[in-house]
Amino acid sequence: MNEEDALPVIQDEIVAPGAPWSARLQRGRVLRIVDLEGEQGVDFLCYDAADPSERYYAPNTIKKSGTLRLTTGHALYSDRGRPLFTIVADTCGHHDTIAGCCSAPSNAMLYGVEDAPGCRENFLTALAEHGLGWTDIVPNVNFFCAVPIHEEGRLAERTFVDGPSRPGDHVDLRAERDVLAIVSNCPQVNNPAAGGRPSPIRIQILGG
Ligand SMILES: [Zn+2]
Repeated sequence: MNEEDALPVIQDEIVAPGAPWSARLQRGRVLRIVDLEGEQGVDFLCYDAADPSERYYAPNTIKKSGTLRLTTGHALYSDRGRPLFTIVADTCGHHDTIAGCCSAPSNAMLYGVEDAPGCRENFLTALAEHGLGWTDIVPNVNFFCAVPIHEEGRLAERTFVDGPSRPGDHVDLRAERDVLAIVSNCPQVNNPAAGGRPSPIRIQILGG
């Protein structure tokens, strides 16, 4: 049992397959994302709640953690080199931050399908509730997603390979300051990011 398991539950929601979600978290609180059925990618952005011009920045996160596979102990760094969240628990071990989010334009570009909205469109819906929009979307974290990189730098045929998470896998993210968290429960059916069958997730906010 992790110490997070003893924290009181402040908020507890089921996010439907393919739906967006967002919340502000006070510093010290823990965001728990549970992949209820397994193989479900969860696209994630975060911002400083007081000044959202400071936001998640994958290059700082990758360089500071020294790996492309984020897990327990790694922080999600901002473009100003400060941690927004720290991963304090992770039962999956496969989280990507190079492949970005799916979108209607990328679904047309990659798979030739039209009118197939994705995580970018979910991000826009969630961001609008906080006065943010298109130019506030940056390359994000994809929890429960595996993007293997072969030795010569080649990616998998559909970038993502079969979902690496099992039913009930979760990550716990401790807020290192007051933050805004933006989630898209990935609706993708053209690659394995959502296991080919988008499924619900559970999101909890834990803390005192
Ligand atoms: Zn997606």
